[in-house]
Formats: sequence, structure tokens, C-alpha cells
Amino acid sequence: MKMNDRVGRSRALLGADPRGRVREPSQGSRDNISRRKVLGGGLVAASSLGVGPLRLEAAPLQVPQRVLGKTGEKAPILLQGGSMPFDLRFDPKLAESFKYGVTYIDAADCYGGGNTELAVGAFHTRANLRSKLWITSKSDDHDPKGFEETFHRSLEKMKTSYIDMYYLHMLKDAKYLNDELKAVVARLKKEKKVKHFGFSCHHGNVVALLHEAAKTPWVDSVMFRYNFRQYGNVELNQAIDAAHKAKVGLIAMKTQGSAVSFEDKWQKFQSTGKWNKYQSVLKAVWQDERISAAVSDMESLEIIHENVAAALDKTKLTQAEMQEIYRYAEATRAGACDGCDHLCGAAVDAPLQIGSTLRYLMYHDVYGKTALAKDLYAKLPREARSYEGVDLRKLAGACPHGVDVEKYLRRAAEVLV
Ligand code: SF4
Repeated sequence: MKMNDRVGRSRALLGADPRGRVREPSQGSRDNISRRKVLGGGLVAASSLGVGPLRLEAAPLQVPQRVLGKTGEKAPILLQGGSMPFDLRFDPKLAESFKYGVTYIDAADCYGGGNTELAVGAFHTRANLRSKLWITSKSDDHDPKGFEETFHRSLEKMKTSYIDMYYLHMLKDAKYLNDELKAVVARLKKEKKVKHFGFSCHHGNVVALLHEAAKTPWVDSVMFRYNFRQYGNVELNQAIDAAHKAKVGLIAMKTQGSAVSFEDKWQKFQSTGKWNKYQSVLKAVWQDERISAAVSDMESLEIIHENVAAALDKTKLTQAEMQEIYRYAEATRAGACDGCDHLCGAAVDAPLQIGSTLRYLMYHDVYGKTALAKDLYAKLPREARSYEGVDLRKLAGACPHGVDVEKYLRRAAEVLV
């Protein structure tokens, strides 16, 4: 794994390939959503970002929307992720996303070291657009009492009287979807403090949790790990089918599947040059009608423009482009971890949290989120990250996808402390 190549990604939008060569503008749909058109409209129709109220102007083209399952409400197919630093006075990234119809922000009590919710509050109050913004946030505390306390802290931090959707964050065990929590959710809904409820999940139990959501009427939505590496996964597809049939609003996250670490390989597979790999995998997710939206941590205006351009284009990926994605997934499979600890963890007699460790390593190596990665790694129980006295050689061949677990655990212990 290596550092991200976001510069290349931005250049792709601007007409240069990731190696810096200027590309000829492609014909067809990409022309139809030219940068000029995408960037049309003013960002902020007020004098400065420093003081006073702001008025945001909508761009002429708005990201399409889909109904988010049983919520019955429409949401943009592209959602602004919140796991990154924001300007706590007024964040221009949120304004830029909003301008193109990305009116949904995905926050959590822990994102941005606890600051994301504050940034969301500052953004909507400053621009006076609470009623036009969909805010989702999440509680890391899954105990009903702790969940409710966290929820009220979120209300306060985001300066709002209601939250559109509130999730249990990173749910690992369906036992938390119990009657006590159900009663808390029902009361908060009755008090009009929350509109919808659900959970996020990206550990090895995504399949089981999607089935659980399908038979739990008070779960309105699930946000789950879903990317091009999993399209052929029969069990996952059956679980998605079940949740979709039960009208659970499905949101995909981690759509890039660690892909940023494999630029060279992608170059080998990419033949059309129409979409870069980031746009391609997003478009592949949107091609799945069961999925209402994909969340993306859009950390720069360039990334926002690039993702918006992909969302605005109504053409589907061709069969050849999908084939490229499948071949790319196959060629890079041994470098991406799905978080299914129960598979490789069984090889060692120790409570190592392999999936989490490799995910934090990905944050560090791939996305360059050093502080976040170190912080999360430090929060793991000591026995979950220390392999002292553990024979790591037993992990050889333990991952069905060929991930070299020992190598990555050793690297995590080296760079995340
Ligand atoms: S290393 Fe392999 S088996 Fe272990 S969690 Fe990752 S993908 Fe699953």
C-alpha cells in the first residue's frame, strides 16, 4: 500500500491524466457535462466567508436523487462524507457539495475528532438552510441509554432541533437492535427529534446484519461496505436483495475498495479513458438500482467536481468498462481487506482484530489519514493489536483473498504507534 494519488484524481477532472499529461477532451457524455457547465453558478453569493449570513446559489445541474427505501424521502445519489477535517467557521467543501445538490451530509459523533458535527452546525446556521439539508449522524455508543445521550449531544453540537437520520455506528452485533433501543427510537421519533433510524456496518458480518435489517421494521436504512470487489459475492447479493425487498434504504460506503493504492495496475486495465477509476467504481455502484446512494469523503473541491460529474452523467458503464473493473478487482485482490476477521483470525489463538488493524493501516497508507489511523489503532484493546507471543506464521494462507496478513500486521505495529 502507498500514499494516495488524489492529485492525479483532480488532474483527471481537469483534463490531465494522473501522470500529468494533458488529455484531449473526450467526446460524448463527458463533453455534455463539461467542467464549465459543472462549475456553473456562484459558490457563495455573499461578500466573504468571515462574517454575516451567507446565501448559496444552486448550480444549473443538480445531482440526481433516488428514494431512500421506506423513509419515502428522496436523497441525492452522491452523499458528502464527514470523516475528515472541516473548517469549524464555515466549510467551503460543504457549500460546494450543496451547490450541486449534494444536500446530504453523513456525520458521526466521532468523525473529525468530534468536530464534524460542530462544522455541520456552523454550516447550516450560517447559510440558513437547515430545512434544505439532510443530516445523518451516528452514535458509537450502542447501549440504549448511551445512544440517547449521544443523540442529544449531537443535536446540541449540530445546532438543530431534529436529525434526519441517526445510526448506530459500526454495528457489530444484532443484539443491540433490541426492544429497549426500539422504544428509545420510537420516543425520539414521536418527539420529532429524529425522522429515521438505522445503522452502519463494515465488518465481516455485513451479510448477517443486512438480513437482520430486512426483518426489523424499525430499521429504516443501512449504510454498508459495498464496492466493486464484492459484486460477485452471492451471499452479499442475497442479503442486499432481502434488505431491498423489505424497503431498507441502502447506502454504499467504502466504494473505492482501497483502490487508490493501485494506480499503476488501473492504468494497465483502463482502456477508454472516459472515466478515471474513482468515477468508474462510483458509477458501478449507482448502476445497482437496489442502492439509493453512495457516500464519499470529498476532501477537496476537485474531488467534489469529479464525483458530481460522474453522478450527472446518465450513461451507464459499458460492458467493456465493467469488465475492466472486474479484472482490476481480481488483479488487486490480495491488497484489499474486507474485514472478515472470522476467516483469518481463526488461524491464531489470540484476540487480534485483524480487519480493524488493516483498515486503520489503509487510512494511514492509502488515504494519508495519519492522525485518525493512529488514534483508532491506539483505541484498540492492547490484546487486539499486540501479537507478542503469537506465531504469526500461522496466518500464512489464512486469508482466502491472499492478503499477506503477517506483513500488514507488522507494518501496522511499526507505523501506527
Ligand atoms: S485479511 Fe482476509 S480474511 Fe482477514 S479480514 Fe482481511 S480479507 Fe478477511
